[in-house]
Amino acid sequence: MANLRSTHPDSARMKDGVRAMLVVRNSLIDGLGVFAQRDYAAAEVIAWIDDSRIVDDEHPLLPGESAQHCDYLEAGRVVLMQEPERHINSSCDPSAYVRTVDGKRCVVARRAIHSGDEITCDYIIDCHGGRIWQCRCGSSRCRRTIVASFFDLPLEWQREYLPLLNPWFVKEHDVRIQQLKRDLLEP
Ligand SMILES: [Zn+2]
Repeated sequence: MANLRSTHPDSARMKDGVRAMLVVRNSLIDGLGVFAQRDYAAAEVIAWIDDSRIVDDEHPLLPGESAQHCDYLEAGRVVLMQEPERHINSSCDPSAYVRTVDGKRCVVARRAIHSGDEITCDYIIDCHGGRIWQCRCGSSRCRRTIVASFFDLPLEWQREYLPLLNPWFVKEHDVRIQQLKRDLLEP
């Protein structure tokens, strides 16, 4: 990882704490994954996300940095995810999701997680347009072909994930979210 300056005063402390409780190692899903080193209760914060490394024309990716580790946020903001959260794999039955608390993003347990479990998120949540790809998460409900956006999901998946969308995504796609809520109310 390149030497990157963090703009958040608490990030060093938070990341030290995060490192102590999470470990990055080979994953059966894909490449490296992030694994719990202790139990987490459902809804517990697992890690704070360091969004300080903006990627734009003035701060392009450097040699050794990968667009695969970028996250695409509100109003076109792109951030290069840091360690360890950049290694969180996608799953169609994710153990965690990303939540915004007081303007900062964190990874939250979606269910009880045991020490040794892989921390996974479903990349389709808050996804407003990307490439179509093949998932190999191994979950019994794996969707296989991952569509390009949250709004391309089957309606029942959108229903399940609607409460997990982050406020910026809901705000940015207000018209479609309102339409989705109407669609979900139809018998
Ligand atoms: Zn899958």
